[in-house]
Amino acid sequence: MPIGLIKRLFPAKEKAQVTPVAEEASRQPPAQPPQKKPPKKPTPAAKPAAVQWHVSQFTVAPQADKTRFHDLNIDERIMHGIYDLGFEYASPIQAESLPITLAGHDIIGKAQTGTGKTAAFLITVMQKLLTTTPSERYASEPRALIVAPTRELAMQIAQDAKGLSKYTGLSVMTVLGGMDYEKQRQQLNNEVIDIVVATPGRLLDFLMQKVVFLDQVEMLVIDEADRMLDMGFIPDLKRIIRATPEKNLRQTQLFSATYPFDVIALSESWTHKPRQVEIEPESVATDTVEQKFYIIQETEKDQVLAAILKSDGMGRAIIFANRRDTTRDLAARLNRMGLDAMLLSGEVAQQKRTATLERFKRLDKTILVATDVAGRGIHVDGVSHVFNYNLPDDPEDYVHRIGRTGRAGADGTAITFVDEYEAYGLLDLEKYLGKKIRTEQPPQI
Ligand code: AMP
Repeated sequence: MPIGLIKRLFPAKEKAQVTPVAEEASRQPPAQPPQKKPPKKPTPAAKPAAVQWHVSQFTVAPQADKTRFHDLNIDERIMHGIYDLGFEYASPIQAESLPITLAGHDIIGKAQTGTGKTAAFLITVMQKLLTTTPSERYASEPRALIVAPTRELAMQIAQDAKGLSKYTGLSVMTVLGGMDYEKQRQQLNNEVIDIVVATPGRLLDFLMQKVVFLDQVEMLVIDEADRMLDMGFIPDLKRIIRATPEKNLRQTQLFSATYPFDVIALSESWTHKPRQVEIEPESVATDTVEQKFYIIQETEKDQVLAAILKSDGMGRAIIFANRRDTTRDLAARLNRMGLDAMLLSGEVAQQKRTATLERFKRLDKTILVATDVAGRGIHVDGVSHVFNYNLPDDPEDYVHRIGRTGRAGADGTAITFVDEYEAYGLLDLEKYLGKKIRTEQPPQI
């Protein structure tokens, strides 16, 4: 009898791992016989990539202050995915963390959304899964587990994972609360899944019902640990992590935007000899940038923006928004309003991005709608205006954004739209900038 089957029939280890502690006993579902799983064929990851593509097609000029993905010895199948996503240079968090994690070390990273942290941990997860291929695989046993606090974040991670793993043969699935219970159960039961991206509640539910087993997890990622704490997920998360191999037998990557005491303590208990990475705030001279903050309702933003964009004195303008879908929709709406707006975000193919940036540099009067990470790569002089369609979640991003204008000694204007929901974020920004922010009404249009 194969060892895997014996394990499933006599899952002593799992039983011990999920025994509820007293206060969590109400979660325990009725005892069920463990599922019996037929061995599956070797994982498709073992197969060579069948696509005609060579990394030489992915040309990125070396630059002294930047890291190229080419310099990191990443599997060609992953490089192909990176190429399709249009990434050229590693973002700062990627440049700092990948050499550490690709060498097999655990990491504790301080980074916000928008920095490219998702690709940073995903590339490492995939590289590891492609280099160590187990001989036998079973349904219900992921090799990598990524836990995120919200459905939206988990879905975004899974989408990025699917993009990056497109040519690897690795399979990705989401285990999310509030939706498709039966479908997720069936998929876990019947398919060999390499990477599970999950929110804690549903995952724990499946774990206790023995729908999923985590003892084959080689790679563990805990994303937004501080939000897990805020949302009360730590007890669930502890039990999930106890069901994975011991910390010296798995590789753990933990990311958090902030490090309150509890997160520091948990990070230390969940990681093995971790290296720490923190992205230093970029200090930019903002003296040459006039900063305006308009108090405005969400529904009025488009109209005010379009009117300013059509006014005199407008040269090259960059509009930042916090999410990819916001940038996409906004660019489309501006075009419908008769403005020629181009989109620059991670979801735009590389060739298109290069062409977009070239056009942006060529024209004296032009509009670019960008996400934070895509926008960081823009080093173009003569940007007269930067707009923040949303107040960035992270004050650091604000400084990055407005630093796209006022370059090379020229003057620039940064206009930030702040609606009623965003207004509280101004306090953080004030603290970060160390000065009082004066808000005003937008000009009459
Ligand atoms: P994240 O911080 O992981 O949410 O990523 C923010 C955005 O940056 C996503 O749209 C990614 O697709 C994009 N992105 C990640 N890495 C890079 C990179 N090296 N170059 C350009 N865009 C990137």
